[in-house]
Amino acid sequence: MKELPAFAGGTPVRDKKLYYSHQYIDEKDIAAVVDVLKSDYLTTGPHITKCEEKLCRVTGAKHAVLCANDTAALHMAVMAAGLGPGDELITTPITFAASANCALYVGARPVFADIDEKTWNIDPACIEKCITPRTRAVVAVDYGGQSVDQEAILALKEKYGFVYIEDAAHSIGTCYKGKPVGSFADMTTMSFHAVKTITGGEGGAVLTDDESLYRKLLLLRTHGITRDPKQMVYEPDGPWYYEQVALAPNYRITDMQAALISSQLDKLPAFGARKKEIVKKYNEAFSKLPGCVVQEETKGSDTVRHLYVLRINPQHLSIGRRQLFDALGAENIICNVHYIPVYYFPYYEKLGYKRGLCPNAERLYDEMLTIPLFYAMTDQDVDDVIHAVTKVLTYYEK
Ligand SMILES: *Cc1c(COP(=O)(O)O)cnc(C)c1O
Repeated sequence: MKELPAFAGGTPVRDKKLYYSHQYIDEKDIAAVVDVLKSDYLTTGPHITKCEEKLCRVTGAKHAVLCANDTAALHMAVMAAGLGPGDELITTPITFAASANCALYVGARPVFADIDEKTWNIDPACIEKCITPRTRAVVAVDYGGQSVDQEAILALKEKYGFVYIEDAAHSIGTCYKGKPVGSFADMTTMSFHAVKTITGGEGGAVLTDDESLYRKLLLLRTHGITRDPKQMVYEPDGPWYYEQVALAPNYRITDMQAALISSQLDKLPAFGARKKEIVKKYNEAFSKLPGCVVQEETKGSDTVRHLYVLRINPQHLSIGRRQLFDALGAENIICNVHYIPVYYFPYYEKLGYKRGLCPNAERLYDEMLTIPLFYAMTDQDVDDVIHAVTKVLTYYEK
């Protein structure tokens, strides 16, 4: 007999709401932040450099520039790449708006390439179709945490000579063919927002192996101001002297945040291992259900997921995504949707983008749902999610 979902009058799987993500903060994290508060430097202190060095060790990048958030990191990356009016930047529509907005900040135009039907990452063949003489950059997003097809994107970069920026907001800890995310693109950006795998409350970073990009990024983080006599136009007037040599915002991060990110990075192996365990259980349970489709791994990606996204198969279900969202909510499993295709937003419509641009992305958007996945989930939480999803999808199976 099929179990009755709470949505149809049955008893909810759990009493307490379970959200799609939650941070994990331990005593070490708290002590790290408190130590900074008792120290001399609240911003631009020793924890910035310490955290940047740690990020380089974790990702294999030569340089890391810690900054206010990933949106700032993306803005700095496109400024460092020299994008401006008349230039085009290719990205995926299934991302947070910041991955495309960075082009608009500098007067360039975002161009949306469709996603791969199986991995839900940007499809390299679609990137190639979008390339024009104006293409200056590609922002590829490791959607949900799994690596994009690095080999294919690097081959396109070789052929067309664009700047490859990887938005790795979801993918810290993920490896592609044995090498960590952060060691592939010209610049890789990261987010340490509260819902992401590693958090500083807010925070971001740009990683690069390129010395000249690194020097530009340091300038762009802080008003385009330099204190390095080698970068100055004039002889310093004295020890107080500095020069503004470019125009840039203040995208610095505090030492409290850097200390928190640093402390969190020590837990990345544990975070990754636990998330892999949960994903394995989810994949085993959900791949048996005709009503849903699980995200396929990019070949070569050893993934630390940030999001676990379920896709419904409408042919086998009598309900749609909206009802599934409500039905899981009634079981106290609070889901989310990542993402609304960026060019659906009114702001983008006003710029001339039309629906129908990326059919695979649009279909995925209609059918997807983000279910809970985070380090601090208990085994009971995981079982509750599997129970609730199975109950609802089985009940509404066609
Ligand atoms: C979270 C996120 C961002 C923005 O990060 P912030 O640190 O909040 O600015 C950008 N891109 C993607 C793919 C994200 O998930």
